Amino acid sequence: MTTVHRVLNFSAGPAVLPVSVLEQIQADLVALPGVGMSILEVSHRSKAFEAILAKAEADIRALANIPSNYKVLFLQGGASLQFSMVPMNLLGAGQTADYIDCGSWADKAVKEAKKLGTVNVAASTKGENYSRLPLQSELTLTPGASYVHMTSNNTIEGTEYSTLPDVGDVPLVSDNSSDIFSGPIDVAKHGLIYAGAQKNIGPAGVTLVIIREDLVARSAGNKALPTMLNYGVHVENSSLYNTPPAFGIYAVGLVIKWLLDLGGLPAIAAINQRKAGKLYAEIDRTGYYRGTAKKEDRSLMNVTFRLPSEALENTFVKESTAAGFDGLKGHRSVGGMRASIYNAFPEAGIDALVSFMQEFEKKNG
Ligand SMILES: *Cc1c(COP(=O)(O)O)cnc(C)c1O
Repeated sequence: MTTVHRVLNFSAGPAVLPVSVLEQIQADLVALPGVGMSILEVSHRSKAFEAILAKAEADIRALANIPSNYKVLFLQGGASLQFSMVPMNLLGAGQTADYIDCGSWADKAVKEAKKLGTVNVAASTKGENYSRLPLQSELTLTPGASYVHMTSNNTIEGTEYSTLPDVGDVPLVSDNSSDIFSGPIDVAKHGLIYAGAQKNIGPAGVTLVIIREDLVARSAGNKALPTMLNYGVHVENSSLYNTPPAFGIYAVGLVIKWLLDLGGLPAIAAINQRKAGKLYAEIDRTGYYRGTAKKEDRSLMNVTFRLPSEALENTFVKESTAAGFDGLKGHRSVGGMRASIYNAFPEAGIDALVSFMQEFEKKNG
């Protein structure tokens, strides 16, 4: 058991990991059992690493109930590279891709896609500082679009989809970076799902991509695409075209195993609902704190709130940091506070924050 002091880490990402996973990494860091080498030293062509990769994929498939006509890839370049890879691979010449502009990361995805093809912004809540998600009735979708791009959880603004938008037969491409595997997911309703690992499922350096086979086929034979940016190449080579982020894949595997042992996605969903529920209840209790996201759209992962004044917000940041709550300062575009409470964030840390908030209000209310 770890005896070192750990702060309560509310960072938006890279973010808190399960202590048991960190301890496992620590225990096996010098030599993986039965291998005699560190995960940091082992060849990606070795049987040992192949087994780690295969197990991580199998566990992800089991956890999210991924249908067999979907491929699971471990790539690099973060979610940000997916902003480019998605249109490079899926947006054909003369076609249009629809983007739901529901947050700052979606906006970045739009900007990258526009460099590569025709983009229709199907709806945008930018004018409302992305404080809510666009309604289904606000979407102007293009018939026969290449795909519709959405962001499942808006990390900066603290909004999250609880039901997927209806996009008909057009493939839905979703950036799930900040809420991947935080609850059950219907993979079959998607064409492609991507997520940087560093928020909910592991360390920085590995990006998970789940892609339906017919979408792989769109670019598989495209010789004009840079090799490393072609989904088909990575599928063909089972994420081993070049040296993959071995440590990241190993660590993601441990986090997925932790989720399975916990009871899978329904179990973590219940925990996440309870955790976020406690925090939102405190935010709504007296009106001293003010949630910035529309109530119906509130995220279970990133809880954004403000205080009565900027001066009080500065005091809150200073005093909470001193009390062992790290990373609560909100993104500058929203202001105020943001508590990122991903899967691995301990419930006791939520209780501690709620107590701190009550004390702070008493002193400064
Ligand atoms: C953090 C984040 C990104 C950017 O991820 P990188 O891996 O740093 O490129 C993209 N989209 C969302 C929703 C995010 O939260």
